[in-house]
Amino acid sequence: MAKLRWLGHSAFEIELAGKTLLIDPWINGNPKAPLKASEITQADIVCVTHDHADHLGDAFDICKRTNAVFVATFEMSNYAEANGVKNTVGMNIGGTVEIGGIRITLVHAFHTATRGAPTGFVLRGEGKTVYHAGDTGLFGDMQLIGKLYRPNVALLPIGSYYTMGPVEAAEAVRLINPEIAVPMHYQTFPVLVQSADEFVKLAKEKAPNVRIAVLKPNETLTF
Ligand code: ZN
Repeated sequence: MAKLRWLGHSAFEIELAGKTLLIDPWINGNPKAPLKASEITQADIVCVTHDHADHLGDAFDICKRTNAVFVATFEMSNYAEANGVKNTVGMNIGGTVEIGGIRITLVHAFHTATRGAPTGFVLRGEGKTVYHAGDTGLFGDMQLIGKLYRPNVALLPIGSYYTMGPVEAAEAVRLINPEIAVPMHYQTFPVLVQSADEFVKLAKEKAPNVRIAVLKPNETLTF
């Protein structure tokens, strides 16, 4: 059984094929995080979409304590190694690696970054697929990501200002057509959209067959 837990903002803990994955684990300083980074004692894989502090977060600390594999772009993995992380995979957009039965594909995102390029992740294991879009604006190739990987769950930023807002994210749901769409990257900062209500309304209009799951921090979704 695959499941994911929202840790606030863009941070998720995903249980897939018997492995524990963390994506964008910004925990300490994240006002929505339900725990402290030091409470994360077990992880197999840590994926980071880009190097902004609200995504890279506690990734290095968690990797060093748990011996998890750090997975990101080549430039980011070099940065992780320079910061003392032992196990790294430095891949790039379009590529897939397999780690312990999990297939990880790096996909593009329209955003900025200091090192390398911003990305999203497609994670596959036990016949389930999760797409984490990272920080991004809307792009038409989301339809390709939907067609090629058929995500069970799409994790999409809806907060506007730095990423897609509710209107664009609702269109992304239509393009990707996952079984379940989960909003993220909202409410955390004053400049971000403060509620998922508009996104839910628009997504239901544009993609009535997609289940929209609005999670509370620490809430778990089984898929
Ligand atoms: Zn960012």
